[in-house]
Amino acid sequence: MRPLFPAPIRERSRVTRVWLIGAMALLGAATAHAGQVGSPKPAPAVGYTLVSRETIEARLGAAPRNNQDREPAIESMFEQAGCKGSDLVEQPVKHERFPNVICHVAGSTDSTIIVGAHFDKVSRGGGVVDNWSGASLLTSLFESLHDRPRKHTFIFVSFTAEEEGLVGSKFYVSRMTPDDIARTRAMVNIDTLALGTTNIWLTHSDRKLAGAFYAVAQSMKLPVAIVNADHVGNDDSDSFLRRKVPTLMLHSITNRTFHVLHTDDDNLSAVRFGDYYDSYRLIAAYLAWIDTVLD
Ligand SMILES: [Zn+2]
Repeated sequence: MRPLFPAPIRERSRVTRVWLIGAMALLGAATAHAGQVGSPKPAPAVGYTLVSRETIEARLGAAPRNNQDREPAIESMFEQAGCKGSDLVEQPVKHERFPNVICHVAGSTDSTIIVGAHFDKVSRGGGVVDNWSGASLLTSLFESLHDRPRKHTFIFVSFTAEEEGLVGSKFYVSRMTPDDIARTRAMVNIDTLALGTTNIWLTHSDRKLAGAFYAVAQSMKLPVAIVNADHVGNDDSDSFLRRKVPTLMLHSITNRTFHVLHTDDDNLSAVRFGDYYDSYRLIAAYLAWIDTVLD
């Protein structure tokens, strides 16, 4: 997540108030759209493997303190989860020290679902919630989904240099051909989970994908809210939005927890593990679900 801090203090209070109005509204608007991609069966009917709490917690707790260690750490986590050989590739990014890390899972069609989460952190703080919570979860989501044949080709991308201006995701998108864009049915971006229950940044999301997410959450009896942060931040979904790829942006920030970002407070003590594990279960079920309902 990239917080945008307006320079004049008077501006900041105004902008914060704008965001307050947008935040915390329940996802009523999206329910009307849920039917467009079909009403989900109860989550257990959608097949995926649930990774244990212990593993999810251990992967989150292993957050390296600097970017130099993060890139190899995310690769070895993917390998341990079973993504290896030619399925796991580094994409060098122009002028960047660290590459994007990409794990491919071929489906029965070339229709594609991209799941993204940046691995880099700012120098201050532990970068546990922003965004080891997302990057490490990619490896568990891979593990959850690669247990059986899927219709869609899944591409898990851990982006580099998000904090420097969405550099890794901009580069990734710049290398997508018009065909790549056309066959991408969804890009689900995960940035800054674990501060609380799951939120959708609706202005960075496709309404149908958001509606389906809400419907899956309902069926699992898990909470989800809309929290838009347009005036205070940005994230890698923006790079895909600019090429008109349908996106879903998931996070856990609220007004109460926004102060954690890019500070010394971003460490394991900020984590609400029960909420984080619920977010994991919800996203895993959602990805398995949209694999069956998207074309
Ligand atoms: Zn950030």
